Amino acid sequence: MAKRKKIYEGKAKILYEGPEPGTVIQYFKDDATAFNGEKHDVIAGKGVLNNRISSHLMTKLEEIGIPTHFIRMINMREQLVSAVEIIPIELVVRNIAAGSLCKRLALKEGEILPKPLIEFYYKKDELGDPLIGEDHIVTFGWADPYELEEMVAMAWRVNDYLNGLFSGIGLKLVDFKLEFGRIWGQHGELYIVLADEISPDNCRLWDAKTGEKMDKDRFRQDLGDLVEGYQYVAKKLGLIPEDILQGGSINEKMLSNLDQIENELAERRRMRDLKGKKPRKS
Ligand code: C5P
Repeated sequence: MAKRKKIYEGKAKILYEGPEPGTVIQYFKDDATAFNGEKHDVIAGKGVLNNRISSHLMTKLEEIGIPTHFIRMINMREQLVSAVEIIPIELVVRNIAAGSLCKRLALKEGEILPKPLIEFYYKKDELGDPLIGEDHIVTFGWADPYELEEMVAMAWRVNDYLNGLFSGIGLKLVDFKLEFGRIWGQHGELYIVLADEISPDNCRLWDAKTGEKMDKDRFRQDLGDLVEGYQYVAKKLGLIPEDILQGGSINEKMLSNLDQIENELAERRRMRDLKGKKPRKS
């Protein structure tokens, strides 16, 4: 079999050339990094969970009309996505004070912000992704004013939708980071789509009852088992059925057997649908 071509390797993902022009395979690694790469570890199962959670959330966002790069999940670690030109801006949406916002403005962690806030960061590892203003984006040509407006509008919609989705399953969406990319259509028209991933690696998610952190802060702040937090999120999203979890925790074999979980879920959906149907009169 021909070796596929690696396009790019980041801290948590690898991009390979996709099977068709205009497609890319996004591979989720188990690597966890923080503080601009100063802290690093390999955490078995993280990539599988992020692939699953991100595929689910991107699909849900597509359903409400947010264009994304996501095409489909290929296997437990990989998804097929559209090739995009990444816009070098990170949009961080915040609902509750946490992380760098608390440090910068001496806010108490957990304070609900008077209104949700969008911040912009320039995607540049060498500079540690500095905070920037909208003017920097336009002045340096990282995005034009129309693209910026579109990204901001989409970020608000994503926040509205995800806030509702997570609050409905007992999780608080504290903040999250989005990235966008450009795709050109057949006639040269430009589309801005949501890219990268949406997972506990780039969202802060707290349990609504206990306040427990279920996201990458478990790694950043040495709070303990990262994978358990991510599994908790996946379970709440209905991506891992209760009885598949053994003793509250999914084992390695299960992690490496997402297909089995998918099949099990599909079978349950089928049974549920059948139950709801009236038998046909003969
Ligand atoms: O660290 P900070 O408080 O600025 O992070 C805000 C949000 O953006 C968090 O959910 C964090 O996980 C995410 N983030 C990210 N990638 C970065 C910086 C922040 O996903 N490079």
